Amino acid sequence: MSIGMLSTEQLYHKFQECTGVSTDTRRITPDCLFVALKGDNFDGNQFAEQALASGARYALVDDAAVAERDRASGTNRCLLVADGLTALQDLARHHRQTFTFPVIGLTGSNGKTTTKELIAGVLSKKYNLYATAGNLNNHIGVPLTLLSLNEQHELAIIEMGANHQKEIAFLCSIALPTHGLITNIGKAHLEGFGGIEGVRKGKGELYDYLAQNAKTVFINSRDKTLTAMYRERLKDIRSETTFAEAIFYPAANPDEDPITLVSESPVVVYRATSGQEITTHLPGRYNFDNMLAALAIGDYFGVSPEEASRAVADYNPTNNRSQHVTKGTNMVLLDAYNANPSSMAAAIQQFAATPAKRKAVILGDMYELGDESEAEHAALGKLIAESNFDLVILAGKDMRFALAYLPKAYYFPDKFSLHNWVMDNPMTNTHILIKGSRGMSLESVVPFI
Ligand code: ATP
Ligand code: MG
Repeated sequence: MSIGMLSTEQLYHKFQECTGVSTDTRRITPDCLFVALKGDNFDGNQFAEQALASGARYALVDDAAVAERDRASGTNRCLLVADGLTALQDLARHHRQTFTFPVIGLTGSNGKTTTKELIAGVLSKKYNLYATAGNLNNHIGVPLTLLSLNEQHELAIIEMGANHQKEIAFLCSIALPTHGLITNIGKAHLEGFGGIEGVRKGKGELYDYLAQNAKTVFINSRDKTLTAMYRERLKDIRSETTFAEAIFYPAANPDEDPITLVSESPVVVYRATSGQEITTHLPGRYNFDNMLAALAIGDYFGVSPEEASRAVADYNPTNNRSQHVTKGTNMVLLDAYNANPSSMAAAIQQFAATPAKRKAVILGDMYELGDESEAEHAALGKLIAESNFDLVILAGKDMRFALAYLPKAYYFPDKFSLHNWVMDNPMTNTHILIKGSRGMSLESVVPFI
């Protein structure tokens, strides 16, 4: 007799007996639910028995043979579904529907994780919240994040990433956000989105969801693109529907620069037009927008400005995002976590404006640019040339397109030849910016400096 498949309801019942969810046999905790997922090079079904032996209470599988074997052995702890990934997503949606607390959905081209961490720091002054761990922001990470929520939580912050159309809409259909923030629209994942207009549309799916469901949007009024995207949607309201409530921040004149840099060392201090001073470990003008979002959302949810500023000041990034590292007499600004044309330009302009006697940049390829890669790397070359750095070091296949503007730059087709050169040419008393796409993992150069 063949084994029947479980409905989402039945599955949810089993999930409630479990202590958590894991998709990785190396991270099995006692009585968790193991979910077998398939990738290009692996099939989680093959690990179901191992997961159960390691302490998982149940294993969700989509391979009938594995479930038959489990049944025959008498353990009966495999839960058979048609598709493991879909079951995980359905389970997460079902679980999400059991909560009524605010769920903030957050997307954008750049700064999602940084902004999420800042918001989490601010809101945790007042609420017991759960925020996406690390960068678990895709079609698997978002369901796993939601399944970590429990009745003790009072608020959730869900990072949503996307590299193609309809992805944010889909993630919204699982996370059901009640509030949303788009950090910015920039040149990231141009290939999958089909150019910058595609990014606008794809990220705009968060506004679409919030609009259709009469939820709340937080909009940086200094960002003309986001403001326009919101206004475009206003046209589509029919009288019987209520459009999302929009919280524009800062409320003051959007054309006026709301901040000035007071000092940069040892910590960065900004002064807002209100006179309020904001201290941060985050260098880079672009991080101010990330902080503004956190302060605005903190204010909306009733966190006092003093506590919010303190939370922002306390946030210290790790994982190669805007990290300061001292190497001998050199100061390294390690921003090797990722790069795309917008974040690269922001980082270079910021670095160019930073006072230092001698400045060097070590920059790697920007990935996922498709047909626009040559032009974007060439444009980057031009920007670097205009910035007058003392030393320019480029690595990666497409960085060769930047060379046309940079006759004096050192170029390496891969990071290994870069390592050798850096080792043979020690730098001293130099400020060094390191940035490239994740695939370049340029943090690997730091030990050689
Ligand atoms: P991912 O798509 O990998 O999840 P993310 O959107 O979560 O990235 P972060 O991890 O917060 O982004 O930041 C990655 C890098 O993007 C930072 O190190 C910085 O260089 C850059 N960045 C951060 N905020 C901004 C911003 N507001 N505008 C432009 N670039 C930014
Ligand atoms: Mg992220």
